[in-house]
Amino acid sequence: MQKHQMLIGGQWRDPAGGQWFASENPFTGQAWAEVPRGGAEDVDRAVKAAWDAFRGPWRALSASARGAVLRRFGDLVAENADRLAELESRDNGKLITEMRGQLRYIPQWFYYFGGLADKIEGRVIPIDKPGVFNFTREEPLGVVAAITPWNSPLMLATWKLAPALAAGNTVVWKPSEFSSVSAFAFGELFEQAGFPPGVVNIVTGFGSEIGEALVTHPKVAKVAFTGGDATGQHVYELAARGIKKVTLELGGKSANVVFDDADIDNAVKGAVSGIFAATGQTCIAGSRLLVQRTIHDRFMDKLLTLARTARMGDPLDDATQVGPITTRPQYDKVLGYIEIAKGEGAQCVLGGAAATRRECGEGWFVEPTIFTGVTPAMRIAQEEVFGPVLSVIAFDTDDEAVEIANDTLFGLAAGVWTTSIKRALRMSERLEAGTVWINTYRAVSYMSPFGGYKRSGLGRESGLTAIRDYLQEKSVWIDTNDDVPNPFVMR
Ligand code: NDP
Repeated sequence: MQKHQMLIGGQWRDPAGGQWFASENPFTGQAWAEVPRGGAEDVDRAVKAAWDAFRGPWRALSASARGAVLRRFGDLVAENADRLAELESRDNGKLITEMRGQLRYIPQWFYYFGGLADKIEGRVIPIDKPGVFNFTREEPLGVVAAITPWNSPLMLATWKLAPALAAGNTVVWKPSEFSSVSAFAFGELFEQAGFPPGVVNIVTGFGSEIGEALVTHPKVAKVAFTGGDATGQHVYELAARGIKKVTLELGGKSANVVFDDADIDNAVKGAVSGIFAATGQTCIAGSRLLVQRTIHDRFMDKLLTLARTARMGDPLDDATQVGPITTRPQYDKVLGYIEIAKGEGAQCVLGGAAATRRECGEGWFVEPTIFTGVTPAMRIAQEEVFGPVLSVIAFDTDDEAVEIANDTLFGLAAGVWTTSIKRALRMSERLEAGTVWINTYRAVSYMSPFGGYKRSGLGRESGLTAIRDYLQEKSVWIDTNDDVPNPFVMR
């Protein structure tokens, strides 16, 4: 068993309380690493180290030099991508093929935001007052708390760290208790890349302990969070007490809409990729499949044929297509939702139970599951399951598709399958979602903004605008007049 330490102020440290907890491999169900159980004292040390680095060595670096450190870090991640991917796959049970793809792509965020670091510019405002010069400065916020979930640990951390650091902030990062191991390996690379001590700190432990201590710490200026909506709401409320800035990415119940003019074979692949890729444990899962009634039965035949071929098994095997559920509580939750759907009268046409195939070993596996005859009011059509469970809803008209698709509290993403450009553009406008994919699904890039409408979140990650969420604008006034006018009236 590997025993880890936390990265605080450039040093690897034991938790102040002297306690560790076990991280389990979801495929074997066995503990394989010991993770420090940090507490409020560790958080306080980490935030102070981040604050000192913010005011000291990080601020002293020019923006170009800051960007160069980020790009160096990107190079190191690229060199270590396969090793990091294997750690992630062991710790959270996601497919090695998926994690390798993510890790090989992550450097792009550090290159892109590293490149932006010295392009953060203020404005000169042609102010309406004679003899007065007014300009703006874009300044970092200070210490950013990054809180990340277990499903894509390093990628979701990267979406926060790269823009936060490029903007000149320092970071205290708390990964999920279920997937902390890859964070320690990332931490070693931060040191190698030349980040001054304290610029990036890693504290581990339980959300209710260190997560809260971090969000409420007076020296934390901003919280960047990805996770469940209930936790996100709680974090938002805590942050509000300190008037802290927040970015929240809180999952969804995304609609994947298939029209009868679609390329059916591609749409079938899109439906599978929407829900069974990553074992459905992704915020952008296309968990509601809306199929036009005219093609419903034909489409379902093809979908079932493809879904039945999904190979379950060891996530470290390149041939595996559906891996285990990452955590025991999540496994219970997914099975619970399957029972809820059955109780609500949805028809289970595939799966619908725990997977006990030999190749699933001792892991927490759930059979790829499809329910048809789902109606929009059912819980299975409204609540995020975060597992390989698809709800199929039939519709007749475009208007009805839009109404059903928008009829949830969430608004993270949506998919549309059609060969009509007019329909594609109309749908892209009418769907209430931060991302709309037309004839594709689950595409992300460091260049394109990602985030939620409605209860799916606040703010955007990736793309040019993401860096704005880590900056604040200052207005500077210089009076060049010789005389100060009447001091009793507003200037
Ligand atoms: P959470 O929202 O509970 O966890 C996300 C992060 O927040 C973790 O680092 C967690 O720490 C931390 N956290 C938990 N409680 C607090 C708190 N009180 N204050 C500050 N931080 C806290 O997600 P879970 O991992 O428990 O998953 C629950 C559900 O969330 C899933 O079933 C799924 O529906 C959804 N989810 C959505 C994701 C998305 O990408 N949008 C990703 C993951 C989950 P710790 O791990 O120690 O609890």
